[in-house]
Amino acid sequence: MLPSTINPAISKDLQEKFNHLWHLVGNTPMLEIFYTYKGQKRSLYVKCEQYNLTGSIKDRMALYILQKSYEEGKISPNDIIVEATSGSTGISFCAIGRSLGHPVQIIMPDWLSKERMDIIASFGAEITLISKEEGGFLGSIRLSEKMAALNDSVFLPRQFANTYNADAHQMTTGKEIWLQLQSIDVSPDAFVAGVGTGGTVMGVGRYLKSRNRHIKVHPLEPAESPTLSVGRKIGSHRIQGISDEFIPDIIRFDELDAPVQASDGDSIILAQKLARQLGLAVGISSGANLIGAIKVQDELGEEARVVTILCDDNKKYLSTDLMREEPVKDGYLSPEIEFVNYRPISR
Ligand code: PMP
Repeated sequence: MLPSTINPAISKDLQEKFNHLWHLVGNTPMLEIFYTYKGQKRSLYVKCEQYNLTGSIKDRMALYILQKSYEEGKISPNDIIVEATSGSTGISFCAIGRSLGHPVQIIMPDWLSKERMDIIASFGAEITLISKEEGGFLGSIRLSEKMAALNDSVFLPRQFANTYNADAHQMTTGKEIWLQLQSIDVSPDAFVAGVGTGGTVMGVGRYLKSRNRHIKVHPLEPAESPTLSVGRKIGSHRIQGISDEFIPDIIRFDELDAPVQASDGDSIILAQKLARQLGLAVGISSGANLIGAIKVQDELGEEARVVTILCDDNKKYLSTDLMREEPVKDGYLSPEIEFVNYRPISR
């Protein structure tokens, strides 16, 4: 939870609402997962973000952006929250926006999972779907900007450019990771996170590097469709939530170490293994993060303490390839990985 500060800029009632919401967002469990890679015993630390209000890491930045925007007078009661999103963010703004009494309108590409659209609709939000021909993700962002230009009551969180996105992770996710590891006398060597908006990797990275500048912070991208290491989007991939169509403004390469890549099929197989072997059902980007963390650990040495994120659970992916048998391809890490067990790190 964020430290509760009395802020004269917003009413006591509203302050209390935000404080109540912070009880349901953040402060998530961390696990040390024990596994074998090529038969060798190793472990990783994972932050379990499926334990947020709407079941994903995006609740942190949605709540933080809304609170800061109220404090700065950028949003008023009853304003319409309009956001272009690949889904998880939309769900977060729906839940938190509705709890604060705001109408919510979500604009998203039409190729994302049906579950995302159904969940958004369940909050009574309006959804506009944008096809590839209409501009896809960039088209969604353009439409949201157009709506804001035409209507003073539209509030745009602008997750891809809003600096409060990374700040949310610096103030909450990064700090929690550091304190949880401190409680077991562990100092992390590296952090890995897939880049959607880049909020997670930048914010957590800033906090961890402020405690120890030697900690490596690696952004992760899909091997089939890299953006970070190429400078623009190429190809297509199945890791919903990361590598949308461009390099977000939030990303600052001078604060990051080298990008790591995960294949979408490898990510799917590893996410399935985590559910089948340890009962931890996660989404595809969590599988990608695990692949990336294991690659980084392999490079740093088997004893390296590497942290990554389980971004959400598997329920938004019931209609996707995550629920189907995935063929193994050459170069995949997942066939060499077996999960053994886990232990919780206290909150
Ligand atoms: N995984 C999932 C499932 C997501 O929805 C997102 C955000 N779109 C991410 C990972 C990436 O997080 P961030 O936006 O902080 O880079």
